[in-house]
This record gives sequence, structure tokens and C-alpha cells, in this order.
Amino acid sequence: MNNEFEDISENIKRIRFNLEEAKVRAGREHDDISVMAVTKTVPPERVNFAVSQGFTLLGENRVQEYLSKKELYADNVRVDIIGHLQSNKIKYIIDSVTMIQSVDSVQLAKEISERALKNGRVMDILCEVNIGGETSKSGFSPEGLEDGIAMISELRGVRLCGLMTIPPPDNSCFYFEKMQRIFEDIKASPPENSDFKLLSMGMSADYADAVRFGTGMVRLGSTLFGARNYSV
Ligand SMILES: *Cc1c(COP(=O)(O)O)cnc(C)c1O
Repeated sequence: MNNEFEDISENIKRIRFNLEEAKVRAGREHDDISVMAVTKTVPPERVNFAVSQGFTLLGENRVQEYLSKKELYADNVRVDIIGHLQSNKIKYIIDSVTMIQSVDSVQLAKEISERALKNGRVMDILCEVNIGGETSKSGFSPEGLEDGIAMISELRGVRLCGLMTIPPPDNSCFYFEKMQRIFEDIKASPPENSDFKLLSMGMSADYADAVRFGTGMVRLGSTLFGARNYSV
């Protein structure tokens, strides 16, 4: 065992234990819940250690940072974009990521779609929902989501795979429940050309709660890699 990364090993043990416990408590012990390693500010050697322990799905917030680390990551990683994406950056990531979870407007979806078609692919996306209506966060409002999804489902270069959210820090259970309801409603009659199945919610502070409310993917940064010295 490489001592250099002992802190991450310990964190992984705790995360696995907590997740199993939360799944059992929620009666979801047979459900697959993906765990994403959120890499912002984390050096690639530390990311690669987590990858070697089975955390092969990485979440990237910033295109610039991702491009600077990309070549240093292990070969078997899968990368999703989870941070606000400027449309002029789409071209840099379109061929190397598997999903864009932070689609926060129809306009962005259109531009992703155009670029994807140009490159001969269809990009999997999630719509980000600003479930708490916070001005500091981007995303579709719960009220605007239905119309947004209808327009996005017309685009041939993107495939809508579900929803992503970051709830307000207090009272996340209240917002998780709201998100679960919205997600299940859409899933019951999914838009055409979609593969609507993934609810991405739950971070370091609240992933166990997200399990109770039907999450399909938790996104973990600080509880896996340790505290960041600044927030992104
Ligand atoms: C930073 C970030 C996370 C992880 O945050 P932690 O609280 O450190 O686990 C998850 N999702 C998104 C979109 C993020 O920006």
C-alpha cells in the first residue's frame, strides 16, 4: 500500500461504508448508484490513485483545468463535465468527455448539439436544475424545465439522459424530494430521442440523504480527496 495516498484510502473506506449503510436504510441495497470523483484543484497523481481504487468516473468543473490534467490521467477514466460550460469551450471537450451534466440552457444544448454533429457524435447530457431558485446558481428553473426539455429533445446531436442538481446547502432533503418528484414525473413519460434514466445529486455533505431520495449518482470531492483550499 502506497502511504502517500493513505488519506484517500481511508476516505474511500468510509465512503463505501456510508453508502452501503444509506442504501440498506433506504431499501436500495440492490440499486446501482454511481460514484463520481470530483477532481477540481486535485493533483492528477491523487486522482489516479482514486481511479486505481475503482473511482474511474471523473467530474470536471473547469475546461482549462481539465485540459491541463487530461493527458496525465490514467487511460481507463471516463470524464463528465459538471461545471458551467461556456459555449466557446465546447470544441475543446466534445471528443473526450462522455457526458455534459451541467446543461443549463436550451442555447447551450443547441451549441453542444451542433458541435457534436460536426464531430460525428451524439453527446449525452443532463439538464441542470436550479431547484432552490438561487441567483448564485445556474440551471433551469423547475417551472421552465418542461419547455426546455421539449426544445432540447428536438436536437439531434444531444441525448437527454436525466437531471443534475446542486441544492441549497441547508435543508437539502427538502430539495432532494422535490427533485425526485420532478425526475420521476418526466421519467414516466420521457421525451422522444431521450434515454431519461439518471438523477445526479448528492455531494460530500449530503450524499447519504440523496440515496433516500432516489439518486442514481453521487458526486464526491472533498470527502474523497480532502478539503479544497478554495471553493469553485
Ligand atoms: C465541487 C462539486 C461537487 C463536489 O463537491 P464536494 O462538496 O466537495 O463533494 C459536486 N458537484 C459539482 C457540480 C461540483 O461543482
